[in-house]
Amino acid sequence: MIIDGHSHLLAEYVRVGELQQHPDEVPEFDLAAFDAACEELDLQLMVTLVQDMTRIHGGWQGGHPLVAAFQKLRPDKVIGLAGAEPLDGNDQLNQKRLEEVEALLESGSLRGLVLTPPYGNFYANDPACYPFYAAAQRAGAPVFMHHSAQLASLLRAPLKYARTWLLDQVAADFPKCTFLIEHMGFPWTEELFGVMVSCPNVWTDISMSRARPHLLAWNLTMARDYGLLDRITWGTDYVGKWVDQWVPAVKADVEWLRAELNPIMKRCGWPELTDEEMDGLLRANSARLWGLE
Ligand SMILES: [Zn+2]
Repeated sequence: MIIDGHSHLLAEYVRVGELQQHPDEVPEFDLAAFDAACEELDLQLMVTLVQDMTRIHGGWQGGHPLVAAFQKLRPDKVIGLAGAEPLDGNDQLNQKRLEEVEALLESGSLRGLVLTPPYGNFYANDPACYPFYAAAQRAGAPVFMHHSAQLASLLRAPLKYARTWLLDQVAADFPKCTFLIEHMGFPWTEELFGVMVSCPNVWTDISMSRARPHLLAWNLTMARDYGLLDRITWGTDYVGKWVDQWVPAVKADVEWLRAELNPIMKRCGWPELTDEEMDGLLRANSARLWGLE
């Protein structure tokens, strides 16, 4: 079994005002194909992330109603996360979004929160972010953060907003909130590991890391020495609405991780991942993060 712990299935970029409300309104998305794919992939769960990108980029990746409806249709297979930009265009607290997020998380309509500081040009320790972290902590909802250099497209994401040390005080101030820092905080992975060692509520994922195979192998080797392998998850980071694109993305990642990663480690003289550690990456760690085991 596997868990795609970070995807954007049904969470494509749309401009403000063009948000779809329900999977039925997305002709390219095939719910029956999704059900079949869950069987074929032996998929325990898939996490799909909405990103609020209204402040700088004028749109959303996905939308709350659409992803909440998807989660409601398949509550055993889909976890949807809400997106939020804590600052509005005038650098003031985004009160409207805060109220929206509080309602979504309290009702369980969406089960986590996504912040993207480099895309929104704000710092993770800005005081405007704190009510959002408080809302997530109150609801028991994990906070995912795109807190790294840009990996997926050509969107400008200034690096000064992505330094991982900024998260140290944040995670300490919300000790009961789980933070998952996407993409191993690329390229500040060891700095992130420092935060993770001092804050047991900070996790990371290896999504979009396969393109740098030796770096990924080294980062996992470091994670072993820091004692952090059990707080690292995997996800495709697939963005789109096509199940028949998402399935090959899952297969390509899983097959590569199972067949190619350990040979690299072996060639480099680094400890290989055990079967249990590989299952942790591909499933068990995410299951623990979401309270499934
Ligand atoms: Zn992503």
